[in-house]
Amino acid sequence: MGAQQVRDVFVDLYGAEPEGVWSAPGRVNLIGEHTDYNDGFVMPFALPHVTTAAVSRRTDGVLRLHSADVDGGVVELALDALAPGSDRNWTAYPAGVVWALRETGHTVTGADIHLSSTVPTGAGLSSSAALEVVVALALDDLYELGLKRWQLARLCQRAENVYVGAPTGIMDQTASACCQAGHALFLDTRDLSQKQIPFDLAAEGLRLLVVDTQVKHAHSGGEYGKRRAGCEKGAALLGVDALRDVPYEGLDEALARLGDEEEVRRLVRHIVTENHRVERVVSLLESGDTRAIGPVLTEGHASLRDDFRVSAPELDLVVDAALSAGALGARMTGGGFGGSAIVLVEATDVETVTKAVTEAFAAADFTAPRVFEAVPSAGARRVS
Ligand code: ADP
Ligand code: MG
Repeated sequence: MGAQQVRDVFVDLYGAEPEGVWSAPGRVNLIGEHTDYNDGFVMPFALPHVTTAAVSRRTDGVLRLHSADVDGGVVELALDALAPGSDRNWTAYPAGVVWALRETGHTVTGADIHLSSTVPTGAGLSSSAALEVVVALALDDLYELGLKRWQLARLCQRAENVYVGAPTGIMDQTASACCQAGHALFLDTRDLSQKQIPFDLAAEGLRLLVVDTQVKHAHSGGEYGKRRAGCEKGAALLGVDALRDVPYEGLDEALARLGDEEEVRRLVRHIVTENHRVERVVSLLESGDTRAIGPVLTEGHASLRDDFRVSAPELDLVVDAALSAGALGARMTGGGFGGSAIVLVEATDVETVTKAVTEAFAAADFTAPRVFEAVPSAGARRVS
């Protein structure tokens, strides 16, 4: 949906032109999975899919919210009544951002917001971060708060962790706030230092497909907690602050020290090799060897499947079918147990690979996947 349409609906809802229109993208993680809560490296890029928000300030302590993507009318909230955990609806995301801004001491006296999104929700593409970041950026602009992009990301993470109550890392919000078109973002989740890495697929005759399996296996929440706890146990047994501190060169020695802690050994091996894979992808892209990242992505999938054990039959099938049909590399992306996979292909192979994946899903009696092309796109911005 274009900015003008979002503007027009805003006028219909609130009876005046908005002060401006902003947008923030969803994201895909190229490599670096489950490393964020181990102080490690991640490497997301922004999707062309965005959440767009038309916003005006108010002075009376009222927040009015409307989403084109949710049934129901305008929701009106009093700023003074905003409290973590008080809202179980979609409105908790934007309200959480306003709460986090005010709690940090910023003056926000109200807002009228209408938003509309092209980011698929619940597909592991981070529609929640797009929603938070677009609201944070709009309010930062209108209230002249002067926040840096990484500060906006932190505030949005706080909104999601504390207000919404979802224990997520910093990657999604940073990607939505900081990514640049034609680049992937190399982010160190320990100190939030970041570097834009050239990732212009089209210029190299390559494409990156996102395959949304449209499944989410029910036990994902509990399994996430178990992986986190296992990683913490590994760090404690090895005497480091976080698994990020185990060097790749010291992996064999670390595994030997873990003795018969078989599960912890597997988790540690994934995290240490995954951080190393992120660094390998960075150096391959920086030296212009984009095709060579394919096998690294595929290795990452094997590690998530066999060591970290967060894949799903649907994700494994995407990877196997795509590779058999000539893809350069493929992996699950996001937390796992469903959601999406990414596939790196020659531009000339897009149709063959898409067909192979779709047919494999039909043969396995799985729900038909949604396949689309991901062009590394711009981060959050004002659009009018
Ligand atoms: P993901 O971030 O992977 O898409 P989440 O479960 O983290 O999945 O966030 C999805 C939730 O975010 C939705 O259930 C909804 O509450 C909220 N959300 C995202 N986009 C919108 C939107 N455009 N309008 C209203 N709510 C949205
Ligand atoms: Mg999310």
